Amino acid sequence: MNELFFSEKLYRIQKEVRDFLINELEPIKNDINRENKIPLSFFRKMGKYGMIGPLIPKKHDGTELGMIAHCMITEEISKINVSASVTRTPCILDGYLLNRHGNEEQKEKYLGKIASGEKICSICVTEENAGSNVAGLKSTARKEGDIYILNGSKKFITNAGIADYYFIWCITNKNVNPRNGMSVFLVGKDTPGLIIENPYGLMGINGVYNGILKFENMEISNENLIGEEGNGFQSLMETFNVERITLSSECNGISMAALEDSKAYAKKRVQFDKPISKFQIIRFKIAEMAIKLQAARLLTYSAAQLAEMNKNITKEASMAKAFSSKSAVEITSEAVQIHGGDGYTDNYSVERYMRDAKFFMIGGGTSEIQNLVIAREELK
Ligand SMILES: Cc1cc2nc3c(=O)[nH]c(=O)nc-3n(C[C@H](O)[C@H](O)[C@H](O)COP(=O)(O)OP(=O)(O)OC[C@H]3O[C@@H](n4cnc5c(N)ncnc54)[C@H](O)[C@@H]3O)c2cc1C
Repeated sequence: MNELFFSEKLYRIQKEVRDFLINELEPIKNDINRENKIPLSFFRKMGKYGMIGPLIPKKHDGTELGMIAHCMITEEISKINVSASVTRTPCILDGYLLNRHGNEEQKEKYLGKIASGEKICSICVTEENAGSNVAGLKSTARKEGDIYILNGSKKFITNAGIADYYFIWCITNKNVNPRNGMSVFLVGKDTPGLIIENPYGLMGINGVYNGILKFENMEISNENLIGEEGNGFQSLMETFNVERITLSSECNGISMAALEDSKAYAKKRVQFDKPISKFQIIRFKIAEMAIKLQAARLLTYSAAQLAEMNKNITKEASMAKAFSSKSAVEITSEAVQIHGGDGYTDNYSVERYMRDAKFFMIGGGTSEIQNLVIAREELK
């Protein structure tokens, strides 16, 4: 199906991306899982290689390759170890946000550093009492002269502890609907008053940092307000669409790896004097996995194509995310099943794929919330 979406140029880039990843990520993919750590040197190499800049213009040191290329790159990384892509995702999203809503000075100052991998980003929305209900967030930013004073906390923040730039959403006007009273600020990691903790481990996506942020009377220059005051909810919703396409591609990368590993294992593993790939039940599992993967990729790439055409993709991005994440959970579970006892050991990657896949039904908006969005759009 790649022919539907890939140009000749993109096939060439895909080959280059694969060569880079085979040399740089493949040799460390199991260490990342075992040691629960992604070397920052690898992250910087991704940046140098142009893999963080597909949505950033060339004039700001991005590659400007666009959304389809972004999906392809995301799949390729995720096929090998999705954690490397999850660490990169906030940089993609904050770069996108900054390019869409930042002023020229901010773009000049930050975009190049994000695209090159020199600086790592975080996207800080979720709070203790504002998860699915983003409009319920309680962190505040109060304007005083030419500064804002931020108070509040954030939870489940990817890259907490390794990020240089924290993009923090706060309420700037309590007297209006939060959808019109929210703003986003770029906060440097060394800002006095910013406390970062990592008090829990994760079920999967080993190597990804995740933690909480607390800030008390944290002073931020008004130069660090991104976009108009009060426009934070709108810019977040736009960014969520890109996040949903990105996470879909991460799921599809995991699913591609799970299917490939399963086919190889099924051809090799002999029971009852035959490779298990000869048994109809195993063949049907492979067929079901392939159908789900193809449908998930079609939903994702078609949403990406619509984004490139500057169409509203709210429904399509949610459809892609809901379907790709559910499919990844189902495909990786079948992959473990096809591997039998081996699948339940860490001698094979399928157990990792299964743990990793579950994250995507939760992060970036749960599957239930995606379905609410889809139903709202359908019933308009
Ligand atoms: C590993 C990880 C990384 C993350 N990274 C980030 C990050 O970088 N930045 C960030 O801001 N956030 C991040 N998150 C937070 C993530 O976006 C939230 O966990 C997610 O949106 C769900 O919010 P919640 O955990 O509060 O669950 P809740 O909102 O409490 O939901 C609990 C359950 O109730 C369901 N539910 C809630 N409301 C409804 C409803 N109206 N109808 C039906 N069902 C409903 C949910 O679908 C879910 O099943 C991350 C989370 C994880 C686990």
